[in-house]
Amino acid sequence: MDVAGARFDYIVVGAGSAGCVLAARLSEDSRVRVLLIEAGGKDSNPWIHVPLGYGKLFTHPKLNWRFETEPEPELGNRRIAQPRGRVLGGSSAINGLLYVRGQAQDFDQWAQAGCTGWSHDDVLPYFRRSERQVRGADRWHGGDGPLDVSDQSEPHPFCEAFIAAGENIGARRNDDFNGATQDGVGYYQTTMRRGRRASAATAYLHPARSRRNLAVVTDALVTRVVFDGLRAVGVEWRVGAGVFRADAMREVVLCAGAIGSPQLLELSGVGQAERLRTLGVPVVLDAPQVGENLQDHLQVRVVFKARRPLTVNDELANPLRMARMALRYALFRKGSLTVSAGYAGGFFTTSPVSDTPDTQVLFIPFSMAKSGARLDRFSGFTISACQLRPTSRGSVHAVSLDPATPPAIRLNYLSTATDRLAVVRALTLIRSLAAQPSLSGEIAKEHAPGLDTQGDAALLDYARATASSLYHPTCTVRMGGSPDAPLDPRLRLRGIDGLRVVDGSAMPDVVSGNTNAPIIMMAEKAADMIREDAR
Ligand SMILES: Cc1cc2nc3c(=O)[nH]c(=O)nc-3n(C[C@H](O)[C@H](O)[C@H](O)COP(=O)(O)OP(=O)(O)OC[C@H]3O[C@@H](n4cnc5c(N)ncnc54)[C@H](O)[C@@H]3O)c2cc1C
Repeated sequence: MDVAGARFDYIVVGAGSAGCVLAARLSEDSRVRVLLIEAGGKDSNPWIHVPLGYGKLFTHPKLNWRFETEPEPELGNRRIAQPRGRVLGGSSAINGLLYVRGQAQDFDQWAQAGCTGWSHDDVLPYFRRSERQVRGADRWHGGDGPLDVSDQSEPHPFCEAFIAAGENIGARRNDDFNGATQDGVGYYQTTMRRGRRASAATAYLHPARSRRNLAVVTDALVTRVVFDGLRAVGVEWRVGAGVFRADAMREVVLCAGAIGSPQLLELSGVGQAERLRTLGVPVVLDAPQVGENLQDHLQVRVVFKARRPLTVNDELANPLRMARMALRYALFRKGSLTVSAGYAGGFFTTSPVSDTPDTQVLFIPFSMAKSGARLDRFSGFTISACQLRPTSRGSVHAVSLDPATPPAIRLNYLSTATDRLAVVRALTLIRSLAAQPSLSGEIAKEHAPGLDTQGDAALLDYARATASSLYHPTCTVRMGGSPDAPLDPRLRLRGIDGLRVVDGSAMPDVVSGNTNAPIIMMAEKAADMIREDAR
């Protein structure tokens, strides 16, 4: 299909978690023509498809935008890594594969805050529609959707010890964090099919690629949305030195993610008027909240030296064991190469005023000095935790007219007393888990921060010096019921016709969990809304 200069019904910008869903669902109707434009390339790198490969993609120069925050004042002015996928599948192609939806209460609160149609009862059918649950369908889960959801390939002795420790401190065993309730300890489920990653591209886009009414353009950086007055009528993109344009007869749908979508809106003239004028962008619409309200989960990690050499560190340090690991994976799709970024874990309530879990814990049978670094040379494992509903708020704003220049990302992590207290409680929780006999028996030593770090002030200092993102930036073009929210609850940009934003940026508040599954759900729901509104 000839794309440049052509007219489509829908143009979807960004082939990430949300964009792949929308391109696939909208093109189910053979009467409409859909164009999907992605800045990155094809998802042919083998490390995308081997689950543990996310370690190789964390700083990949081509497949990853490798954003960083501005210096974070409460984190010792450190710049915090914000990896984002730049490839078909977007961040779902480089993420840690955990399948976690959040809490029913998250969505009920969205609805109570004015996002009509987004209560848990409203969104559950879309979670189910997206899902092919390995255990089969039930009230909570779908059995025949595009996205494969699997159990871990096998139990791990350290995970068993961790789960027992959780039960010792009063948590219940929970084999389904996405079922009736989230709280408790157990193994995570993952977006995987028989040991291979299920990204939004493999689940949704690739099965739709042969459709004649779907055009996919890769390696094309969208530079702006084109407006006719207050109506979005197309987009422009760049490939090398060439600038191309296509027209959208019905809608432009931005799915460029929580960092890309607000930047693209600002460069197209939609944002805070004063800021746009300073930048030199002609103002199309004064939308002061575009780029504001950025939220993320901040992760703190405790590293332990293990008594027994049963960690991924041990396997990768020994050529013979590494060969065995590769063979087991090739033959049975089991073992360390299938390890997701949390193998076991749990959802705990640490604050006396919280009715639902406020802290997520992740247990991984490997360790390293910091995310993206090489594995430690000793037998090590990591327990990390994050506050599920942070109160710190940040922003994403374009700083240059050149769309290839990264925007300024400010998370303002730990800028509230509530969040500082939460991070101390999270570290204290990890230590109390580690102190339980089932787990302490596996621990030779707490390696970082080490037991000489004691007391709330010292734990907070440790968090300031080492905390990282859990990679869930969201809410920068939030939907809401009141006019100050950039999007209405049907994800239409207020004040502009023919333009929606459907991706992590549209969340009104970050969910209490990982973000891939809820973003896929949002895109499933958006596809229905777009089709309904076209009638
Ligand atoms: C390292 C890492 C680990 C994670 N682990 C997990 C996990 O275990 N479980 C989980 O649920 N979530 C996890 N997440 C988060 C989750 O993957 C993301 O929240 C989700 O994929 C975001 O979906 P999205 O559609 O909003 O954006 P993305 O999937 O990031 O898609 C945006 C797409 O738009 C493209 N784009 C951006 N700007 C432009 C432009 N100007 N022109 C053209 N294309 C553009 C991008 O290249 C990208 O493909 C992780 C994320 C990362 C980075």
